[in-house]
Amino acid sequence: MFESIPVEVGLVHEGERVRKQDMQVELGGPSLPEKFEIVRVRPGDEITDGVIEIIGPDIPDMPEGKATPLGILVEIAGEKVEPDLEGVVERRIHEYCNYIEGFMHLNQRYDIWIRLSKKSYKKGLNSLTHIGKVMHTLFKSELPIIEKVQITFITDPLEIKPLYAEAMKTYEARDARARGLSDDDVDTFYGCALCQSFAPTHVCVITPQRYANCGAISWFDGRAAAGIDPKGPIYAIAKGECVDKEKGEYTGVNESAKQRSMGEVNRVYLYSAFGYPHTSCGCFEGIAFYIPEVDGFGIVMRSFRDVTVNGLAFSTMADSTAGGRQVDGFHGISIEYMRSKRFLDADGGYCRVVWMPQETKDRLKEFIPADVFPAIATELDATSITDLKTFLTEHNHPVVNRWSAQENADETDLSAGPASPVQVFSGGDIPITTAGFRIILKNAKITADKVIIQPIRPHGKTGGESRDAKKP
Ligand code: SF4
Repeated sequence: MFESIPVEVGLVHEGERVRKQDMQVELGGPSLPEKFEIVRVRPGDEITDGVIEIIGPDIPDMPEGKATPLGILVEIAGEKVEPDLEGVVERRIHEYCNYIEGFMHLNQRYDIWIRLSKKSYKKGLNSLTHIGKVMHTLFKSELPIIEKVQITFITDPLEIKPLYAEAMKTYEARDARARGLSDDDVDTFYGCALCQSFAPTHVCVITPQRYANCGAISWFDGRAAAGIDPKGPIYAIAKGECVDKEKGEYTGVNESAKQRSMGEVNRVYLYSAFGYPHTSCGCFEGIAFYIPEVDGFGIVMRSFRDVTVNGLAFSTMADSTAGGRQVDGFHGISIEYMRSKRFLDADGGYCRVVWMPQETKDRLKEFIPADVFPAIATELDATSITDLKTFLTEHNHPVVNRWSAQENADETDLSAGPASPVQVFSGGDIPITTAGFRIILKNAKITADKVIIQPIRPHGKTGGESRDAKKP
């Protein structure tokens, strides 16, 4: 099927990573603001099957080891191909590109990040035409309702600009469609296991009010995909009985998660980052991270390049969040889920969000309650926990009331835990130095009956005060 492709193509290469020192070229990625991939449904007579076009430089003319802008436009047609399918067909770009030996594709939509390895380049993978041919073959063989596929790669920065703006409008229109619907209005949710090649125990549960973590698949997209291929990676989940309305726990979701995660995940809370949170693969658009010092959540998006208010960058926290695990307080999210009324609803919603990048705050302005909006800090207001505490206090953020409520509770019962389980440490790795060795606990979860915090003072004196830390 791939005789003309100079490298191997197959499932075995999914999940391969191409490190910076091994890459011939990078396409898109975090250093470039405008990049995209999009699928559009067209009338059959407007496109030609098998045409692959490159607008701008091809691989040999790209600067070695540096990022080049990229737009991927896939136009499809077919008698049974509906515009509803655009989102799910688009998500297959990620899957199919990752079948190609030495070609790494990360993320989706406006966040794409691709690397080609030097090894595969030397083997002859030296044109985007090869990539287009693989995509064309797989689209036609795996999704037979698609009768025509035309693919355009845009690498000229000037040509990308208008197409990027158009793509952003299309994503927004798709996302807006599901906003009128609530989870109570439907009996069926959808699951997606497309990312199990990277995180074998991860399954996304896609509901009208909990958009997929990658931000690429809505409830409508899930319905369309499950309709054309019920045994495919996107499937229907009968909601079942509601066990907990506030947290968003359903018997049907629990059963499906158990089955699809091979018994690793038995319960899922759709609207909470604690207890049994929705798992995260690695494709999430952003992370909601718990900040124990203020008992609130920070939000960081993939595109944010600086360290956040807790001193950690997105990439560091992504390690603690990803992998298909249920990690208390590190929660993969999409922008569209942040527009939902059920966003972290069980944890307090936006009344619990204390920090996010300014760009994200601006983007979500109409979805954040007006009374909380000014009290959420950004990198322009706070770059440390100390700054953050001051900002929250000055702006009378709702979490400040939780501090006083908690202090009162601590005074009456020092052994009582907080309202929500929390982590003692918010860092991903915890180093311990002992007897000449450095031991690093990666993604450790530590529980303790009691934690005593004492300032270290000279002359062997310890602080006189101790306080029970929050019990996880
Ligand atoms: S993040 Fe979720 S919805 Fe998106 S492709 Fe992966 S499993 Fe599917």
